[in-house]
Amino acid sequence: MIDFSVEPEFQAKLDWMNTFVREECETMDLLFPEMGLAYDTSHEPSRRHLKPLQEQVKVQGLWACHLGPNLGGPGYGQVKLGLMNEIIGRSNWAPTVFGTAAPDTGNAEILALFGTPEQKKKYLEPLMAQEIVSCFSMTEPQGGADPGEFKCRAWREGDEWVIEGEKWFSSNARYAAFCLVIAVTDPDAPLTERMSMFIVPTETPGFEILRNVAIVGECDPDDGAQCYVRYNKVRVPLDYMLGNPGEGFKVAQARLGGGRIHHAMRTVGKCQRALDMMLERAVSRRTRGRKLGDHQFVQGKIADSIIQLEQFRLLVLKTAWIIDEIEAGRMPHGASRNHIGMCKVAMAQVYHDVVGRALEIHGSLGISLDMPLAGWYAGHMSLAFADGPTDVHRSQLARAYLKTTKPVETLFPREHIPTRLFEAERRYPNARGK
Ligand SMILES: Cc1cc2nc3c(=O)[nH]c(=O)nc-3n(C[C@H](O)[C@H](O)[C@H](O)COP(=O)(O)OP(=O)(O)OC[C@H]3O[C@@H](n4cnc5c(N)ncnc54)[C@H](O)[C@@H]3O)c2cc1C
Repeated sequence: MIDFSVEPEFQAKLDWMNTFVREECETMDLLFPEMGLAYDTSHEPSRRHLKPLQEQVKVQGLWACHLGPNLGGPGYGQVKLGLMNEIIGRSNWAPTVFGTAAPDTGNAEILALFGTPEQKKKYLEPLMAQEIVSCFSMTEPQGGADPGEFKCRAWREGDEWVIEGEKWFSSNARYAAFCLVIAVTDPDAPLTERMSMFIVPTETPGFEILRNVAIVGECDPDDGAQCYVRYNKVRVPLDYMLGNPGEGFKVAQARLGGGRIHHAMRTVGKCQRALDMMLERAVSRRTRGRKLGDHQFVQGKIADSIIQLEQFRLLVLKTAWIIDEIEAGRMPHGASRNHIGMCKVAMAQVYHDVVGRALEIHGSLGISLDMPLAGWYAGHMSLAFADGPTDVHRSQLARAYLKTTKPVETLFPREHIPTRLFEAERRYPNARGK
């Protein structure tokens, strides 16, 4: 059965969120617009404003809903999280206000699955309470996110692991209490068994931020949130390895799927906001004696945006449903992989197209910093690169489908009409009245 309705009790929660995000979280976006501030737990004014809002979210039972009860969280499953994240995605601050900001969400998932009881107490609990923030440190400067190119090494010395190497674009490492780091522990092992995952508290001697790299939208090239990090023979206890030696890839996969789909859910919300702006402008602005929305080119842009966004929303919700089915044991582990890849690829394209059209319909006002559209538009490539470049996901998706497709032994394809007609006439020689 396919049912797109939402129970009234949950709809009431979504309605509350809708008003709250528009009135409070979007206001925080205006008061504290600097990128990275949402992760800076030492920034007094924003934290003063944030705490009472987070309390309201907790009272509503909507705090940190990315973790389900099986992992010690209050979550309602991915489909409901999808509907919630669509609302949260409208605002830059909302993920922090609702305790669902990346990469802390994925890192919390890893700690919940692989952390020791002490690590959960020391890192997971304060992370879930957002007393601290965390970082995921995987990409390397010489080889991007391709594990085959990783050089950052870890080896055992007595009762400690020693980590040495560089990581690139370790988002928010400058604000983080700890990083989850992937390092090569057995360079001779097959690729998927070569790496292990470690917790590295950022206070550990040898942890060094070489530069705080900025991206578009930030002002000072050396004061951004994408940290270039060096691990100078950093030492951590043996049990700071998450999972077993060689399981880093498996542990990372536990977070990357969730991270990608949560980004996609929030992107639906940001695109909906851009579409709302496009519609408002089209019925408000006049040119050549008519409203913008009375011109067919503008109508075409609006229609394409509505259709593209609805297709994407349905893809995201179906993917969320598959993940819930896996959780419930009704679908096999890994059944969501292709759909998560589809969401990842579609996300950047839909965002680019819908936000781009909204900007275009606003003309010079759209490109100005008086509107949020130009800033959003500039971020579309970040969506395409973060969590793995779009092209890699496209290629993986195609290969997955190609792998399950059988070649034909015959000269012509299976759908070759003369061949099929010949077979049909053989089965039904009198069908055409001969
Ligand atoms: C805003 C932002 C935040 C990020 N946060 C983090 C973080 O917190 N932690 C972290 O570890 N990393 C993070 N990253 C890094 C991100 O994972 C990498 O940018 C991404 O994996 C790609 O690596 P790269 O940038 O080195 O690009 P490259 O690997 O150099 O790829 C460049 C281009 O080459 C092509 N290409 C590459 N590989 C393939 C392939 N296999 N098949 C076909 N084409 C290919 C694609 O066109 C791709 O766009 C972040 C990135 C961004 C933009």
